[in-house]
Parts: sequence; structure tokens; C-alpha cells
Amino acid sequence: MTPSPRPLLIVASRNAGKLREIKPLLEPRGIVVRCVGEFPGVADVEETGTTFADNAALKAVAVAAALGAWSLGEDSGLMVDALGGQPGIFSARFAGTHGDDAANNARLLRELAGIPEERRGAQYVCSIAVADPAGRVVLTEEATCRGRIVDEARGANGFGYDPYFLVPEYHRTFGELSAVVKHSLSHRARALARLLPRLLDALTATREPS
Ligand code: IMP
Repeated sequence: MTPSPRPLLIVASRNAGKLREIKPLLEPRGIVVRCVGEFPGVADVEETGTTFADNAALKAVAVAAALGAWSLGEDSGLMVDALGGQPGIFSARFAGTHGDDAANNARLLRELAGIPEERRGAQYVCSIAVADPAGRVVLTEEATCRGRIVDEARGANGFGYDPYFLVPEYHRTFGELSAVVKHSLSHRARALARLLPRLLDALTATREPS
């Protein structure tokens, strides 16, 4: 009997940091993970939603519809308690330019200047939507990871706000923790772990018989 082909899932993100985290979490489960950037001609999706969930769905639907393939949309960000939840859905462009991590971190530190350690609580949020090849959202999931914002960068692992995001249980920032540890407790890892059983069911139920 010919083995059935492994299911294909296109991640609707060009963020290399996210892809480095998503691939090792899904590929060992037999899913072939490709990035939308590998497919020329697919336009960038405008993040016009007002919630992480809205934006995750917009990304998943646009890419699934453009490629006629299963797609995973992910929207994530940092919510800082003392800033009323900012930067939230604007995390990637907090300082103005999309994806400028250094400028975003500089603004974060400016906004938190003078705020004592005990009031620097924050959480990362990750919202995921999976769209089928017809461009319909069929699965959603959301998860968080709590921490605290420190004043000086620590470590060079991860991406984005990670060198400033301290995980109190480990006394380390995400910039200092290894990928193995981050992948076991991050907002993205938690959302994917919860989603995985339903994702595998959905991808395998609709596969062409070989
Ligand atoms: P998105 O691509 O619109 O979802 O923006 C996500 C932004 O949130 C990133 O550019 C980072 O600034 C921030 N972010 C989300 N998840 C993480 C993470 O795991 N580590 C560091 N920054 C993150």
C-alpha cells in the first residue's frame, strides 16, 4: 500500500522568528509546513482587525483562498499591564515601522521608565486561525504566557521583545532561555499544543485517498 502523502499547511506569516517556532512544533507530527513567502504572488495581508483573533482569521483566509491550500494564520503580541494592554495588536509596529524590533523595544522602555518592578507585569498573547482550502475558518485557538518587562536586554535568543520579557519561574528572559524551553511554555507553543489534535483531525479527514 502506498503511504498517504503528508498533509500540507501554509503558515500565513513572513516573520522568520515565528516560523522558527511553529515549524518544530508541527513538523514532528507529520505536517509539511511551508511559509507563504515561498509562494510568489501572494499579497501581504493588511491587519485591519481589532483583535488578535480577527487578524489571525484575516491572514488564514487570505492565504488559503489565494493558494487553495490549508493555511494557518497567527497573530500575536505583547500586552503590558501598566500600559493598559499596549502595544497589543500593534506590537509589530509599536514604534511606527513594521517589524523594527530595536525601535519597538526602545519605545517600550521609554513608556515604562520609572515604573517599579512589581508593576511591570505583561503577557504575550497568541491567536491562531486555520482556514481550509476553500478559505473558511474551521479552527481557532488562543493562549497567553505571563511575564515581566525588565529594563536591560538579556540574551540574544528568540525575537521581538524577548530579551526584555522575563519569565519569573525561570529567572530568565525569553532571550536567555533555550528554544527548547521557550517552545514548551510560550503563548505560541500553548496555543499550538491545544490546537494540534483538532488540526491533525481536520488535515487528515480531508486528504485525498492515495
Ligand atoms: P504580528 O506579526 O502582527 O502577529 O506581530 C507580532 C509581533 O508581536 C512581533 O513582531 C513581536 O513584536 C511581538 N511578538 C509576538 N510574539 C512574540 C514572541 O514570541 N517573542 C517576541 N515578540 C513577540
